[in-house]
Amino acid sequence: MAHVLIAGAGIGGLTAGLALAQSGHQVDILERTKVLSEVGAGLQLSPNAMHVMATLGLKSTLMDVGFQPENAVVLDYQTGEPRFELPLRDRMQAKYGAPYLNLHRADLQQTLLETALAAGAQVHLGVEAANFDQNTNEVRVADYQGDLLIGADGIRSSIAAQMFGPQDPRFTGQIAWRGTVAADAVPHGTIKPNATVWVGDGLHIVTYLLRGMSQISFVAVEERYDWRAEDWEQQGDVAQFRARFAQAAEPLQTLFSAVENVHLWGLFDRPARPSWVDGRVALLGDAAHPMLPFMAQGAAMAIEDAWVLADAISRFDGPDALKRYQNARHTRATRVQDMSRANADLYHRPNSVLNRAKMKIAQLLPSVAHARLASVYGVKVTRETGL
Ligand SMILES: Cc1cc2nc3c(=O)[nH]c(=O)nc-3n(C[C@H](O)[C@H](O)[C@H](O)COP(=O)(O)OP(=O)(O)OC[C@H]3O[C@@H](n4cnc5c(N)ncnc54)[C@H](O)[C@@H]3O)c2cc1C
Repeated sequence: MAHVLIAGAGIGGLTAGLALAQSGHQVDILERTKVLSEVGAGLQLSPNAMHVMATLGLKSTLMDVGFQPENAVVLDYQTGEPRFELPLRDRMQAKYGAPYLNLHRADLQQTLLETALAAGAQVHLGVEAANFDQNTNEVRVADYQGDLLIGADGIRSSIAAQMFGPQDPRFTGQIAWRGTVAADAVPHGTIKPNATVWVGDGLHIVTYLLRGMSQISFVAVEERYDWRAEDWEQQGDVAQFRARFAQAAEPLQTLFSAVENVHLWGLFDRPARPSWVDGRVALLGDAAHPMLPFMAQGAAMAIEDAWVLADAISRFDGPDALKRYQNARHTRATRVQDMSRANADLYHRPNSVLNRAKMKIAQLLPSVAHARLASVYGVKVTRETGL
């Protein structure tokens, strides 16, 4: 059994810690923040991620706190005119054997944390994991020593910077406003029980229900270039938010009038890294391959990574396990990164001739849309890790 150090207790780090602890490994998760808390926002987990959650024994807990959207719907941001609709809830379960689930981020984090602790993983808060040191037998970081180190420390990973040199992520010119609203703060039915994308020129908004149907999550992405890299996350101004989206269709106006708090993120990207591994150290999740949110796959890819890496460590020795993990995951993660980037154009230029045609074809031939999604949602790493 290995002793594994993990830098970062985000979704990727906690999932890896849980999977490793359940397989009998010794796990120390080092998290820089003193209090583990997630932003008040939602997260969509597609069937490929839910297979991992089910195998880790978390499906029923997550189903209890989540919500399954009925359809994936695309509407015009200003008029509400329908552009595209695809059955989601029944289709996902029938086709992939796992649900498509909307969750509050804090619920997912808390479930992972409690289960990882119960499985024997140790979580150390307020520990900055940087400046690791490795030799042929061990790796050290902060005051900890282990056989392997996993850098699950997000898009601004210190572990990756030490492995491959500092490389600032690139600002995409897009920012995301995120938050939740109590469902009873707006008239019943204002936001339908779907995963809805409202598309407009230079912006899009995603709405869906959470925690049964008691909360509504929104993510509003706009193109804005007056943004400084240091401000990649901040409290947003609600009045500014409402003013920015004042042209939105009526249901959104009603929703936004009930918003009390909103958070702002700059969306950053970086080219695919050729390697995620250096000796006894490997990266996963956003540290390895930051994912723009236009396919809702960043956390899903971190979860898939975590499962495959834990399986590799259980079946192969030290650095060999890490290399096998990288070989199994690199092509898929890079492809989903590319697909996510490409969706930005579809959402933010919905009136271009090409994008109108794409939406029409997808609506007339749902099999085309399903085939594209199947390449992402249809992968079950718990059955075939590719190691
Ligand atoms: C607007 C938006 C919407 C999104 N929606 C979805 C969605 O619907 N579905 C989906 O699958 N994905 C979504 N994503 C992507 C998803 O949130 C990320 O891809 C995912 O959280 C990455 O997880 P991670 O564990 O790799 O990194 P993170 O969540 O960034 O976690 C990294 C952790 O490491 C800690 N850390 C950092 N440095 C150190 C250090 N030196 N020492 C110790 N600890 C450290 C941090 O404090 C943090 O806890 C969205 C992203 C955005 C921006």
